[in-house]
Amino acid sequence: MVKLIFYGGVNEIGGNKILLQDKKTRVMFDFGQSFTFGVNYFAGYLAPRAVNGLGDYFAFDLLPRIEGLYSKEMLTTCDLPYVQPKIDAVFLSHAHFDHVSHIQFLDPKIPVFMGYGTKLFMESMEETSSFCSYGDHTCNRFRTGDKIKVGSITVEPVHVDHSIPAAYGFIISTSEGNVVYTGDLRRHGPRKDLTEDFIEKAKASEPIAMICEGTRMATTENRQNISEPEVRKQAQEVIASTDKMVFAAHYSRDIDRFNSFYKVAKKTNRKLVITPKTAYLLTKLLDDKHLSVPDPLKDDNILVYYKRKRSGSFDDKDYFLWERTFMEKMVTHEYIQKYQKTLVMDLDFYQLTELIDIKPEAGSHFIHSMSEPFSEEDIEDQVLHNWIDRFKMQFHQMHASGHMKKEQLVEMINYIQPKIVFPVHTENQLLFRSYCSNTQTIEQGKEYVLK
Ligand SMILES: [Zn+2]
Repeated sequence: MVKLIFYGGVNEIGGNKILLQDKKTRVMFDFGQSFTFGVNYFAGYLAPRAVNGLGDYFAFDLLPRIEGLYSKEMLTTCDLPYVQPKIDAVFLSHAHFDHVSHIQFLDPKIPVFMGYGTKLFMESMEETSSFCSYGDHTCNRFRTGDKIKVGSITVEPVHVDHSIPAAYGFIISTSEGNVVYTGDLRRHGPRKDLTEDFIEKAKASEPIAMICEGTRMATTENRQNISEPEVRKQAQEVIASTDKMVFAAHYSRDIDRFNSFYKVAKKTNRKLVITPKTAYLLTKLLDDKHLSVPDPLKDDNILVYYKRKRSGSFDDKDYFLWERTFMEKMVTHEYIQKYQKTLVMDLDFYQLTELIDIKPEAGSHFIHSMSEPFSEEDIEDQVLHNWIDRFKMQFHQMHASGHMKKEQLVEMINYIQPKIVFPVHTENQLLFRSYCSNTQTIEQGKEYVLK
């Protein structure tokens, strides 16, 4: 008998935690954190206490109480007793935090499987951020084409295109038939061919069930979404037609977006200014020959921006060791101010204070190449616009989503023809049902038996 239990990603975008059980084999697919994790009980300095392990999370049912899943250390103060692992493996679809973050709580004895590139992203996060730790696990790396046997199931990861490289869907061979899990995926990105490979393999597997993401399953979409080539085209139009500074804000791990700005900067004879963190990530990703990224130390089109820290005089010792690696490519606010016409600079929300030092000329440009805010009351968005107005900059919005749109989702499901569809990573399960009659809507923690 094969069972599915959804512990996260139910009626919400993100936080996927999917348990598949086949006879005695139990495997978790993704173990991420919800975007709204704990917001009903915690705010600002009112945070779960580290000293209480998972106790504060369990008190509000923020994590599932599953025996044989969590580490001994996290359970010391909890009423859930520690027992030896009862989960055989965890598979991660990609390195976005809503799919991976909570593996930090897991028993290190449980092996974790992830894409080769996903491991590089996770290492980079851990090494460059003081608050990020995914815990110690036996990490097994996979690539498309691998077939990984765990107990009575075999898991085949297949690459997909998403807003982070090294994203995968899975085809899981169970004793009742094949189960397909999409992870997060899109069909309008630069590597849509990867998603097409996945769709073909999924169809050929004649799945008895398909766990399908539905981020953009919505009656109407209010937020603008264009394709990656269109982002590149629009960015080029802005940059080519100005003799002022151009700032760009985008998700640091969206390498397609990085490449878009990198290429546009090159084409418009500007240098691209990145943060030491991005430089570090690129250096890491050079290890994966399947990915195409420039080497920040060797590429003349890339400069690395150093903020004033501690002494304020750009002393080596002011910076972390990993940051110091790129000091030969260092530029400071004085350089940026002087050569602003010849630069495109990455500048995200949390670096806005650098504008005070850089003093961009009035009429400079700010390209917001990320999702538009989810609500009109978004505080960060209001603050961002105050900064942009204060520095008399021109604002541009351009973004390509990491997820396929409703029509493409429906087309994909109809093409693959699974017996049952389980909608995850969506706020709109019922809409799935109105398009696909074979939809089984899901409830948190409930068992679904597959036959
Ligand atoms: Zn994702």
